[in-house]
Amino acid sequence: MARRRAGALAERIVALLAQAPGPLGGLELVERLRDGGDPAAPSLVFRALRQLVDAGKVQKLLLARGYLLRDGDQPLYLHCRHCGAILVAPGEAVRAAVEAAAGRAGFRTHRIFAELPGCCADCARKRDRRGPVP
Ligand SMILES: [Zn+2]
Repeated sequence: MARRRAGALAERIVALLAQAPGPLGGLELVERLRDGGDPAAPSLVFRALRQLVDAGKVQKLLLARGYLLRDGDQPLYLHCRHCGAILVAPGEAVRAAVEAAAGRAGFRTHRIFAELPGCCADCARKRDRRGPVP
């Protein structure tokens, strides 16, 4: 019974992340589950999130302080520090370079991802029109 409930909670979390326009924090997920009439204890939500991350279904982003669904095995998360947009990029060359560097150190990675803070194309265009902004 508990296992089935945990699976149902994970499915609900995945559905909420799929509907969200951007990353959601763990406590935001707790609130959305409660608001949706399907409350769950924060400890259970965070446990389910950890399992989803371990399974490679969800990515935890440190810069955005939230979780989002992984879309394939894309290792680069580009975080616009102006508008908060999160873009994903395949980055096969980065993956190969990181795996090679880790391999030279005798280290095996089980998941490669990087968060890159910067400026998205839309914000860069707006900033270019306005001129230099500190
Ligand atoms: Zn932006």
